[in-house]
Amino acid sequence: MEKKKKLGLPAQILIALALGIVVGLICYFTNTASFTTNYLKPLGTIFINLLKFIVVPIVLLSMVCGIISMGDIKKVGSAGWKTVVYFLCTTAIACVIGLAVGSLFDGLGWFPTIALQEGAVWDKATSANFMDTLVNIFPSNMWTAFSTANMLQVIVIALFIGAGVLAAGEKGKKAAELLESLNEVFSKIMEFIITLSPIGVFTMMAWVVATQGADVLGPIALVILCAYIGYIIHAVFVYSVSAKAFAHVSPKDFFKGASAAMIFAFTSTSSVATLPVSRECADKLGAREDLSSFILPLGATINMDGTAVYQCVATVFLAACCGMDLSLGQMVIVVVSATLASIGTAGVSGAGMIMLAMVLESLGIPVEMIMIIYGVDRLFDMGRTCLNVTGDIACSLCVTEWEKKKEAAK
Ligand code: ASP
Repeated sequence: MEKKKKLGLPAQILIALALGIVVGLICYFTNTASFTTNYLKPLGTIFINLLKFIVVPIVLLSMVCGIISMGDIKKVGSAGWKTVVYFLCTTAIACVIGLAVGSLFDGLGWFPTIALQEGAVWDKATSANFMDTLVNIFPSNMWTAFSTANMLQVIVIALFIGAGVLAAGEKGKKAAELLESLNEVFSKIMEFIITLSPIGVFTMMAWVVATQGADVLGPIALVILCAYIGYIIHAVFVYSVSAKAFAHVSPKDFFKGASAAMIFAFTSTSSVATLPVSRECADKLGAREDLSSFILPLGATINMDGTAVYQCVATVFLAACCGMDLSLGQMVIVVVSATLASIGTAGVSGAGMIMLAMVLESLGIPVEMIMIIYGVDRLFDMGRTCLNVTGDIACSLCVTEWEKKKEAAK
């Protein structure tokens, strides 16, 4: 019997998106938005609940495991540290670019207030000053941090557990194994939640459009444009410039050489799935094989500059939707939490949006606001994955050159 060909997830999501907009518009114009509120939105709420449920274990475990794997980086020697420093610096720059472009769009009045539902509007009284924020980062009770999803506290707990496991040496090995295995388990649960996303995309999009009208599509298109401007600025000014300055590869050659991986990442929306292609591109561009074989998998796990740009742009947008202007202190919190969130993002489709919940939580923005952009996440994801992979390739070229210089000096 001939087997029916199943539609892939990207196609399912795009169809769900289009259907959601159509159903939303029909309900809006026929004044039946309450249908979407009563029957479709609850399904969307289930997805947001799942997202909230998974974010704490994912952040905790992926961070702890990241720190444990730093123990191995020591073995790789100086190339390991250079890689991590390159990753961290470029990610922090990505956050600043994301915030700058987002703030520019916001300043131009292109990000309007969208009153999603009561309670989703930010309460100014909840804003804290910098010292309070600093003190509150340190948990007095681990379980309270988990149960209230206080992400900054969860990160601190992860740092302590990771450092503790490393410090315990041989005796910490069992704990490390357990944590790594739990990390695998929760990553699988996350993948499962992501495969359900077409239902979430359809119900959310239908509800948002039915209750907000077609006008909401304009700001959504603008925030996507804003993220892509951020991606392009980062690719041109950070990657091609660093590849030119440190690895002496011209921007034209760099993008040409990396194009196969970039296109693959754009369509697959997974850095991990793109690994074989990015290895080929990096090696052809002149990266040393022993280095790229360690830098690219590490990059696909912790280096997510596209995700960082997206998280910052989305945070500025959703803050604006709540009528909230980010203060300088809050921007610093966004840079720190988006850097950490992007490090904690798995290199699989849609993971960056789940970690966006962490950035929003750290600012006190209701996670429910994600509903506004939930439906179009795939469009953000294509660009951010493309940038993520490009960054890993640029890094492997730069580190190759630095190591060459070091050896020549010897
Ligand atoms: N899809 C991205 C990647 O694999 C992660 C993300 O969702 O931001 O690199």
